[in-house]
Amino acid sequence: MSWSNWLTENSPERIEAQAQQCREIDVLRALQKAGHAMTEDDLIALLSPAATSHLPAIAERSYHLTRQHFGHNIHFYVPLYLSNRCANHCTYCGFSRHIAQKRTTLNIDQIHAELRAIKKRGFNNVLLVTGESHKVGADYLAQAANLAHTMFSMVGLEVQSLSDKDYERMSHTGVDYIPFYQETYHQHTYEQVHLAGPKADYQHRLATPARIARAGIRKVGLGVLLGLGPWRYDVIALARHLRWLEKKFWRTTFSVSLPRLRPCAASQGSSYQTPSDQWFLQIIMALRLWSPTVEIVLSTREPSQLRDRLLPFGVTHISAGSSTQPGGYAEANVRLRQFDIDDHRTPQEIATVIRKLGLQPVWTDWRSELSQPMDLSL
Ligand code: SF4
Repeated sequence: MSWSNWLTENSPERIEAQAQQCREIDVLRALQKAGHAMTEDDLIALLSPAATSHLPAIAERSYHLTRQHFGHNIHFYVPLYLSNRCANHCTYCGFSRHIAQKRTTLNIDQIHAELRAIKKRGFNNVLLVTGESHKVGADYLAQAANLAHTMFSMVGLEVQSLSDKDYERMSHTGVDYIPFYQETYHQHTYEQVHLAGPKADYQHRLATPARIARAGIRKVGLGVLLGLGPWRYDVIALARHLRWLEKKFWRTTFSVSLPRLRPCAASQGSSYQTPSDQWFLQIIMALRLWSPTVEIVLSTREPSQLRDRLLPFGVTHISAGSSTQPGGYAEANVRLRQFDIDDHRTPQEIATVIRKLGLQPVWTDWRSELSQPMDLSL
């Protein structure tokens, strides 16, 4: 079955019923496997109620696979919000266009001030974030990315869907990675929560990660907002999407992010349940078994105690000391923010916790000059 057919031929009810029927033997079979040896049935077993009594064994497998592929490293990144303008009406987001509040787009001097403030905190990996607005177009984004690259070794871009040509341009500008989240793979829910604007086009959004990879961006991020749609269905769909992309774009690195629905100015709630802390842990560990090499990102949306508990079991990248409003690092102004964060510790405090867990905080994990051809003549 092809990837896109899977979405039309499978329902949340089918996935849920299978998960409820899983037995211990299904979980034990899944635990023997990892990576491409794992089938969708195995993944459902690891996300089933039957798997909860095997959490220590799943945790051990997830821990060892993560250390095998990523060592003890936990990589730091920080989001920098450039603009809170947005042309979309998303029912779960503080930047949604129906919220009547003043919008801000940082000018180049303000971006520079933010980058300096972030750099002082020790970061070397910055993720430039905007709402989705044509007023914050490719020229502006390329200028911001160029400036960021003069100060940071790793630059990401989390913005609206761009044209193929503009993705190629961003790749040449030196953008290292682009997260682009589907939010929910469940089309009916997707259409209920994306009420207006370009993002309301489900199929266009679904096709975009492949376009980003095709344009030559080194790393592409997939993600779902857990609790927006039926979470087991969303996690399985995300895993299927990831596997399809990993096979098709084998030179590209992929990451996954699974933020949980958080309060914000626009939040209209959801008719679906947000996974509990224990299910959240189980989801991360199951995805680690599904793809031993995928990077797993954990944001400051989650409370500090839970973040600390999750760190050893699959997570590879975390944000710290985050602000979710434009100008949030260098300016005192309070502006419209995208959502509330829950881990308010400083990056240094989090680095100390990482070391206490026997892991290694990494501030710089890539230098673009390493991509340049080298003279290897003796
Ligand atoms: S989720 Fe993204 S597209 Fe939707 S309102 Fe928020 S910033 Fe805009």
